[in-house]
Amino acid sequence: MQPIAILGAGIAGLTAAAELHRRGLPVIVFEAGKAVGGMASSFKDPQGFTYDVGAHFVNNRLAATLGASGICRTVKHYGEAVHLGGRTYGYPLGLMRSPHFLRSAMASRLRSRDVRTAEDWFRQAYGDALAEDVAMPLAEAWSGAPADQLSPAIGNKMMHGAMKSLYLKAAARVTGRAVCIGYSHEAPENAGIFHVYPEGGIAKLLEPTVEKVKHLIRLESPVEKILVEEGQVRGIRVKGETLEASAVISTAPVHVLPKLVEGTDALAPLAGFRYRPMVFANLHFEGRHHLPDTMLWVPRRDLPFFRLTETPISMPWLAPEGKTLITFDIGCQIGDEHWTMPDDKLASLCLDGICELYPHLRGKCLGAGGIVRTPVSYPVYRLEYEAERVAFSRSTGVDGLYSIGRNGEFAHILMEDIYWRTLKRMEDVAAYAGRLASGPIEENGLDALKALSEQMNREPGKASGAAAA
Ligand SMILES: Cc1cc2nc3c(=O)[nH]c(=O)nc-3n(C[C@H](O)[C@H](O)[C@H](O)COP(=O)(O)OP(=O)(O)OC[C@H]3O[C@@H](n4cnc5c(N)ncnc54)[C@H](O)[C@@H]3O)c2cc1C
Repeated sequence: MQPIAILGAGIAGLTAAAELHRRGLPVIVFEAGKAVGGMASSFKDPQGFTYDVGAHFVNNRLAATLGASGICRTVKHYGEAVHLGGRTYGYPLGLMRSPHFLRSAMASRLRSRDVRTAEDWFRQAYGDALAEDVAMPLAEAWSGAPADQLSPAIGNKMMHGAMKSLYLKAAARVTGRAVCIGYSHEAPENAGIFHVYPEGGIAKLLEPTVEKVKHLIRLESPVEKILVEEGQVRGIRVKGETLEASAVISTAPVHVLPKLVEGTDALAPLAGFRYRPMVFANLHFEGRHHLPDTMLWVPRRDLPFFRLTETPISMPWLAPEGKTLITFDIGCQIGDEHWTMPDDKLASLCLDGICELYPHLRGKCLGAGGIVRTPVSYPVYRLEYEAERVAFSRSTGVDGLYSIGRNGEFAHILMEDIYWRTLKRMEDVAAYAGRLASGPIEENGLDALKALSEQMNREPGKASGAAAA
């Protein structure tokens, strides 16, 4: 059997490789970059501040499943807040305690509404006041499109029952651990599932998996083409070389698939799918606990950023003693004002913005850390391609081609969900590989039948006896 080719050595590609290898299937992982890990990577700057590229928050269940519990520290506290009209509300329960938001949410429950857009969904689920003041400005900042042009499916990412949140918050208080709320959808959250952080950075989480499959990984090997014939994957092209493959598993952003795939235009609609580009600006400050909680949502259209994260509130070891790091998330378009702004100007814009909320921070800023620009951050569920998105979530439409992981599924999923979803998808891949492998057996079967019929023609009695046996 030809190997199964995997594009990408992030958590999805590595999990897929380890699972298929465990099942005894031949696999090769092609990674475009110089290192494994993809978005799950961290780096430390010369001043001793650690930045995570994508994931900051992972839980003990994922760490245990990946065999990395031994290197993980327990995170004692994690919380989110919303800054609104000069006040801070705990998220999500503090908002629901406001009489203004509560009245509006109750009124929405009494109304029935056709839910066709994200705006309808927010109004229905949260009430008009919370939808207009918080949910819609945030959804627009992180997707770059007005809520009435987005699919109501983005609500699924946010859906979380108030009672469940209350129970998990209480569990966090009792256990003194940062019990996860809203981080896992594939596996249940409960008081025993809490945030942890691996010593040495988030990439360390993947080391036990890498250990299992490192002999199967080819670094600096971008897959240039996925070759399809008669609707079925036949191979790939890497560094100008064509290799046969029985199946291909891609973790690349889906909008590049139409360019990668040769031999079918089944994937053409994916070219229109959009990801939100983002700039993450990091500023260093003297002192700690400058934000009311680890993550602060800022639903203001007049500020460049919509979210601030002070990771050392949860993971003190990510900044030197007595100092802290605040990350500013800025949604943009490639080439727009913020995308092209020089780093020092962007840093001072962020400082001006945060000082509107907390004026005392101006005197505490120690300067800018890294400023990271990423063209592919959040998948944007625009209504204009909703039907194609739903179809793609079921299948790529090409036999033997699978698309997994956050960008590959075009889904707002975090590392633990990627892990469980990838394992499930590997059952499909293994079944497909099994059907392919049974091809030659079927042919063998045909050969046997042919031989049998020839024998019957020669020795009728013996052959029928053999057939009956
Ligand atoms: C801002 C942000 C914050 C996040 N925070 C959290 C969090 O707190 N907790 C959490 O659990 N998750 C978080 N996530 C999500 C998490 O980081 C990602 O979901 C996860 O790391 C994605 O893994 P992946 O394997 O799907 O993709 P990736 O990590 O993107 O890996 C894909 C790999 O494919 C390679 N590749 C692409 N094209 C090719 C090609 N043609 N040939 C070969 N290789 C190719 C890339 O180089 C890359 O290494 C966050 C994500 C973002 C963007």
